[in-house]
Amino acid sequence: MIAYNLERIKTELPSGVKLVAVSKFHPLEAILEAYNEGQRAFGENRPQEFARKAVQLPQDIEWHFIGHLQTNKLKLVLPYASLVESVDTLHLLEAINAWGEKNEKVTDILLEVHIGAEETKQGFTPSEVKAVLQMAGEFPYVRFCGLMGMASHTDDEEAIRGDFAVIKGLFDDCKAAYPSLAGFAQLSIGMSDDWRIALDYGCTEVRIGTAIFGNRSY
Ligand SMILES: *Cc1c(COP(=O)(O)O)cnc(C)c1O
Repeated sequence: MIAYNLERIKTELPSGVKLVAVSKFHPLEAILEAYNEGQRAFGENRPQEFARKAVQLPQDIEWHFIGHLQTNKLKLVLPYASLVESVDTLHLLEAINAWGEKNEKVTDILLEVHIGAEETKQGFTPSEVKAVLQMAGEFPYVRFCGLMGMASHTDDEEAIRGDFAVIKGLFDDCKAAYPSLAGFAQLSIGMSDDWRIALDYGCTEVRIGTAIFGNRSY
């Protein structure tokens, strides 16, 4: 089923859009099944689980961290993460930079933008995003690679489109305002229920869990 689901999604996904398979709560065997189909980018949202899977699974997997990250858990995540998508406070940004200085590693990150999702209050407001990017030079061990967001959890397609339009507008504004941030090029929006809509808003990455692996048991 995993192979079938992946294949179907990949035939619909434009070639420039990266698929991150969100494997949180799913066992190693499920990830390996996707891996054997050629999938290499996976997303996890809990530090302990992230670290355990990163150590146990093939080393050429590209791990994306997509959950809330407390600063006392950085050592579980930063050694393995190819992209931390969920940087949601200045405090976290400072801690990632300090960790990078100590460990001589530059971490690629996305700023999480609070657009729709009422369930989470995580993420920067659009004006906070601009303020953070203004200060980017203060974080030499962080590479600002773009924005991540979640649309409102609703069946109302117009509401979802409204959320995606906001983050896409912000993304374009930021690129225009900070051309010196050369790596600022990624827009991570779209999940199982709304990724086809996200394609209309220039996403460069979608994060899909349930539509690949089935329901999570938690
Ligand atoms: C769980 C999760 C996803 C995937 O959600 P699905 O609806 O299962 O596709 C995507 N992004 C984030 C940040 C998540 O926490």
